[in-house]
Amino acid sequence: MEVLLLGTGAADGIPNPFCRCATCTDHRERGELRTPTSVLVDGRLLIDPGPEAPRQVSRYGRDLTGLVAVLAGHAHSDHLDPALLMHHSWVTESPLEVVGPEPVVAWSRQWLDGDQTAISFRSVTAGDTTDVAGYRVTVLAANHEAFGEACCYLIEDDSASVLYATDTGLLPEATFSALTGTRADLVLLEETFGPRTDKGDRHLHLATFGQTVARLRELGVVSESTRVVAVHLAHDNPPLAQLGAELAEFGAEVLPDGTVITLG
Ligand SMILES: [Zn+2]
Ligand SMILES: [Zn+2]
Ligand SMILES: [Zn+2]
Repeated sequence: MEVLLLGTGAADGIPNPFCRCATCTDHRERGELRTPTSVLVDGRLLIDPGPEAPRQVSRYGRDLTGLVAVLAGHAHSDHLDPALLMHHSWVTESPLEVVGPEPVVAWSRQWLDGDQTAISFRSVTAGDTTDVAGYRVTVLAANHEAFGEACCYLIEDDSASVLYATDTGLLPEATFSALTGTRADLVLLEETFGPRTDKGDRHLHLATFGQTVARLRELGVVSESTRVVAVHLAHDNPPLAQLGAELAEFGAEVLPDGTVITLG
């Protein structure tokens, strides 16, 4: 399984263009752009394509001609910009399935006229296990809210398993229960707020990120061989070198946009 990290940033990415904090300056001076979190799996499954998805794909020399499904966690625009579906409908009739909780389907469906048949929509809810683009996808409850349900996903094939968990605060108990007995090769876990603990509980900060990794370790979801990567990073985080050191304490890492992770 090939996992391409198209983006690893929060909605505004790093740097935020309105900001000269140490972290934004660090990224600006090093010329690093951290764009909204999105992942392309085997060129076949696109998770959370936000407004920068088309250029994220092109920047890394890829295309979406082999895309079979879009999987979105919730109906915030950094996780699904339905304009991408229009771009598809302008050039191809190849089938594309859009999968997500009901608000994702309701929101993206209105971007397309009723006549086209290439794009289909399917709503899922926490507790479902379903096939998406040939992967076994377990739908997990997130601690987040976006006009209704928000979800995280466990994505598996015969070679590997990936836990994709953004956006969320501390995961609900039902999600830890659903994960018990699974072993992930890769955990992409959000860590939006860095040291800031005063920005609400619908995202993780460094401390709750650490608690979550510890809990996943207890359950056996995270083992010695699991890579844990912090994603959905906002500029509230410290500059890169410091963030890397802090995440290492939890056995986790920070990777740049464009990183390819090969599993299995
Ligand atoms: Zn987000
Ligand atoms: Zn900043
Ligand atoms: Zn969100």
